[in-house]
Amino acid sequence: MFRQSVFLLLIFPLVVWAQPKHRTEVLLLMGSRFEITPFAANDSIVDAAILAAVAEVKRVEGLISEWIPQSEISKINNNAGIKPVVVPDELFFLIKRCLKISELTDGAFDISWAAARHTWRFDGTMSGLPDPAVIDSMKKLVNYKDIVLDDSAKTVFLRNKGMAIGLGAIGKGYAANRMKAIMLSMGVENGIVIAGGDLIAWGVPEDGKLWPIGIANPDNPNTAMAWFAVGPMAVVTSGDYEHFAIIDGKRYGHIIDPRTCYPVEGIRSVTIICADAELADALATSVFVLGVESGIALVNQLKGVECVIVDDKGEMITSTNLNINRYSASDQQQQHSITIGR
Ligand code: ADP
Ligand code: MG
Repeated sequence: MFRQSVFLLLIFPLVVWAQPKHRTEVLLLMGSRFEITPFAANDSIVDAAILAAVAEVKRVEGLISEWIPQSEISKINNNAGIKPVVVPDELFFLIKRCLKISELTDGAFDISWAAARHTWRFDGTMSGLPDPAVIDSMKKLVNYKDIVLDDSAKTVFLRNKGMAIGLGAIGKGYAANRMKAIMLSMGVENGIVIAGGDLIAWGVPEDGKLWPIGIANPDNPNTAMAWFAVGPMAVVTSGDYEHFAIIDGKRYGHIIDPRTCYPVEGIRSVTIICADAELADALATSVFVLGVESGIALVNQLKGVECVIVDDKGEMITSTNLNINRYSASDQQQQHSITIGR
């Protein structure tokens, strides 16, 4: 189902662009708002790049969506507890990378969360909390160690009946990487794409300039809470303000703690900055589950990865290599800029 999504990241490309030509295409893909902005020598390359990027996202979605009945992921899910399924190399290696992130995060990231996908729904159709007995039975099904890969046969097997996998926490990051790769191969040397909350920029917006990126304010996602300037980087935000359920006046965000099978609490948004959008996407979800302390500790161990968390009190917490600079934009308004490197 397509849901209108709001900006998670705001870009301000309001400088006067000289050469080359560029255009921003805004459209709904993978249930989220996408923005595709290639910069190229002429308009026809820009137009062709946008068409190719959109076709690529649709291809990726057809491969990895757990909501499309004919997708390769659905074939795996339909054969849970029955038999291994041969999948294309592209999907096999993507799932393999997911399992690596699960190991790295001690199971905080777990694509087998999807056993709970019909129990926890974040599309406005939930009216009460799930039956605790149902949650209990689900806990036995959510465990990445029961996803069995066979490297030579290229098969994926979900060991137990009722298991399912879903790539919602990494799919848009992967799609953002693919859009960049396709456009780069067509001669688009500078560009920026936003796939829901997942942004990747390559090249430069203008000679000597960096890409100005805003981190959305979770209380008012169309405004920036902080901004910073980055080079060719991925900046990915997971927030609790896009897909959530309100039950008895309480907000439940769409990230599930695999240990409890309940939505995670305590964090409003996590932004990860690193070179790769897929990794950034997976880590943003992971840090959400790990919580502020363990999440920051993990990011601090990873070279080339930085993180900004907004907690449920609206406080910003960053990895040790980021600086938050506060300044007053006006008497009422406090602004923040973030710089990398202390
Ligand atoms: P967004 O979709 O807003 O970019 P995320 O990247 O954090 O947010 O992905 C959240 C999605 O990831 C959920 O909608 C669900 O599909 C899936 N998911 C939820 N909990 C987990 C988890 N613990 N590990 C992996 N995937 C998860
Ligand atoms: Mg994610």
